[in-house]
Order: sequence, then C-alpha cells, then structure tokens
Amino acid sequence: MSEGHDQPPTVIAAAEPLPPQLQAGASGTPLPSAALAMELVVALDRLARAQRQHRQTTASRLGLTPLQADLLTTLAGGPPPEAVVGELARELGVRQPTLTESATALERKGLVVRRRLASDRRRTWLELTAAGHEVVRDLSQAQEELAAAVAAMPLEQSKTTYVALLGVIKRFVDAGVIEVARTCLTCRYLAQTPDSAGRAGRHCTLLDLALPDQDLRVNCPDHEPAG
Ligand code: SF4
Repeated sequence: MSEGHDQPPTVIAAAEPLPPQLQAGASGTPLPSAALAMELVVALDRLARAQRQHRQTTASRLGLTPLQADLLTTLAGGPPPEAVVGELARELGVRQPTLTESATALERKGLVVRRRLASDRRRTWLELTAAGHEVVRDLSQAQEELAAAVAAMPLEQSKTTYVALLGVIKRFVDAGVIEVARTCLTCRYLAQTPDSAGRAGRHCTLLDLALPDQDLRVNCPDHEPAG
C-alpha cells in the first residue's frame, strides 16, 4: 500500500468488455500498441497530478492535509467503507498508523469524534461532527469546480470517456493496482442483456436496473467484487 496520496461472482462481470477502442473485438479491432498504452498511462498520470494539486490547494485553504480532506469526504460518503481505521486505511490506500494520525488531527480540530459501540467495545468508530459536515460541503464545492470543467464536453464524448475510464479502473483492479473499486464493471451483479432494440446492453441483477453508459456506477454501496 502506498502511504502518500501522491493515491474485484454467475460472474457475468468478467465478460464485461473494455470499450471498443481498447479491446481486440470479434471484428479484429486491434489492441493498443505498447506505445499508445504508455501514452494512456502518461495522460492518466497527468490527470491524477492535476486533481491532486487541486485537492491539495483546497485542503490547504481549509487547514487540512489532502489525506485529512479525503478522510472527511470518505466518512461523509460512507458506509461503505465502515468508519473504522482498518477499513478507512484500505479505502484510502494508506497504512493504519498514517490513518490514525490523520483521524487524531481531525479530532483535535473538532471535525470528527471517536465512538465505541456498546455491541463492540474493541473497535472505535469515527463520526463527522457538525463542523466536519460543514468542511465536507466546502470540499464538495471544490469538486464541483472540476465537474464544471468536464461539463463543457459534449454529451456523447462524456459518456464514451466515462465508460473508457471505468474500463481502465477494471484493468487496474485486475492488475492489482487498485485494491478497492466499487464500479459496475468490477461487480458480480453486472449482466450483459440486449435492450428493447436488440442492442447490447447492461443490467444490474441485484437492483433489477438497466445500466446505460451514463448510469454505470463508480462507487456503488451494493457492489460486490466479481470473482
Ligand atoms: S449498480 Fe451496484 S450492485 Fe448493480 S452492478 Fe452496479 S455496482 Fe453492482
């Protein structure tokens, strides 16, 4: 696990193809060359750096480290994961002592509290305070700035990009690069089903939902890894 933030079932999901441009299809669509694959990685890295930088700027303005900011937003978005140190550390890709250190700092700032459940006195649960929820609202606004930039893309391009990125996440999960990913393309409940017009479509067998490109989920609480 990396410490810094510099940050997988009838298993039908396993049959989920990558977007056409990234796979060798029945029509003989070629796989990307090693050079193109490398360019994709470089582009992803550039995006990750830009997001990290943006997050760092926002976190600093709020008197937080990027990890503290991520911990607050993860607590606000969960569960999952359970609000306990081990699960949170796994989710954020850091070591448990690092996570504990951040939680302690947030506690000192009055943004989180630790609680022990009467049913399980051995484990400490983290909870956002009212002030913590307020900071999370500020952090969400910063995310909206990025979403506004992406919203300038044409709809079809946005959908294609979204499915392509989910495909990359699946590849990274398969390669062991990403440990936690609650996306439809990595979920045991994803099924390939034809739509009413007979075109290839996707369906969630758990929630009985059609899943057109734009409705695929990137962080679903009902996700279970495909085997
Ligand atoms: S909606 Fe959730 S449960 Fe259904 S396939 Fe997607 S990730 Fe899995």
